[in-house]
Amino acid sequence: MCSGSASRRCCVPSSDPCSAIGGICQDDHLYCSGSYFTGKCNGGSTNRCCTSHHTEGASNSICDNIHVISRDTWGARRPAQRTTLGHSVNLFFVHHTAGRTCHTETECASVLKGVQNYHMDTRGYSDIGYSFLIGQDGQVYEGRGWGVVGAHTLHYNSCAYAASFMGNFMETLPPESALNAAKALAQCGVEKGYIKGTYSLFGHRDVGTTECPGDNLYKEIRNWTRYNSTRMATIQC
Ligand SMILES: [Zn+2]
Repeated sequence: MCSGSASRRCCVPSSDPCSAIGGICQDDHLYCSGSYFTGKCNGGSTNRCCTSHHTEGASNSICDNIHVISRDTWGARRPAQRTTLGHSVNLFFVHHTAGRTCHTETECASVLKGVQNYHMDTRGYSDIGYSFLIGQDGQVYEGRGWGVVGAHTLHYNSCAYAASFMGNFMETLPPESALNAAKALAQCGVEKGYIKGTYSLFGHRDVGTTECPGDNLYKEIRNWTRYNSTRMATIQC
């Protein structure tokens, strides 16, 4: 590598395989916002490489039709605990947060942190409750994500995913781009095998005494092809 005498040799700082791919070694019981890589760290088998990006085919990998803003990107706190949702589900619920709305990624990150703090510190949840959240910017933000049990729809958390529109939609509607993002998200779940192809979509109020997802948004989703009014009386986990 070096010109001159044979004793002139190239000295490079040693780099471990984990930091070489932009990760850090940690015990894998800890939450990793991206993916764990095996075989990149010394020590026991539970000391694994956590990267902020996702492995190919990993649980939160992104569909072609949709871009999900990751927890890392919006600055989520680590959950206190996570429960795996290991099977594909038949239900998808639409919510609204009934709180602040947002129109840019920066604004939405701030709203998301507020929702997460409220859910964790006031409501005592282990993490932000929803699987995903949607901004007025038409972007999808990762909440608990795929493959994780949420805290969004009482009695249905272990058999459904839920997207929540940030804002209050009693009297207004999210823009077309945000509505389309929700539909694309559900379709993404089907493509990735988290949601069954035969799934039904409902509003929160279909299974609980709540105004959620707001009068206007509820009226809207009832026109969606996946909304299944005939099944309302028999929605089962
Ligand atoms: Zn709700």
